[in-house]
Parts: sequence; structure tokens; C-alpha cells
Amino acid sequence: MPSDDKPRATHAEGPETALRLVVDPALCIGSGICLATAPRHFESAAEGHRSRARSDAPVVDESADDAVALCPVEAIGFLTSRPPAPPPASPGP
Ligand code: SF4
Repeated sequence: MPSDDKPRATHAEGPETALRLVVDPALCIGSGICLATAPRHFESAAEGHRSRARSDAPVVDESADDAVALCPVEAIGFLTSRPPAPPPASPGP
């Protein structure tokens, strides 16, 4: 994604950081490369034969990284989803 105002992360952020993929529908041209490269992570979107990230995709893996690298218009990015913060400690007796 060429825009810097969108959330994006890499594996370098650390194992505590969960990642998921996102396809920018404004950029996707429907080449199908991501579907062929990482079918467990992408599916066809009904509108305009574009692609979208699967909601049931497994943890981002090498095939997903390959799809990101191969997308001809850089429409695929990673979103960072951090685990929720622990609840505040309850006051003692
Ligand atoms: S590789 Fe990129 S342009 Fe091609 S379908 Fe996937 S997201 Fe769209």
C-alpha cells in the first residue's frame, strides 16, 4: 500500500503481535495472484472480481508474505491486532 496513513506492520514487531491481512479494494485490480499464491488467506470478492482477505484465514505465514510481495499494485497490507489489555487489578480487601 503506498499510503502511509493506514495501519501496517511486519513480522518484525514481535510474536506477541497478531497480524491479519487486508486488501485495499480501491487498489486491487483483480489479478488473482494472491488467490493463486495463498488461497487459504484470500478469496474472491463479489464486487468487480477483486480479492479480499478471508475472515477465517490462518495465522499469516510464508504464502501470505509471498502474496503481499507479488501483488502488482501493492494492495495488500498487514493490520496489527494486539491482544486486549489485561483487566485492571481488583482492589484488595
Ligand atoms: S494480487 Fe493484488 S491486485 Fe491481484 S487480486 Fe490480489 S490484491 Fe488484487
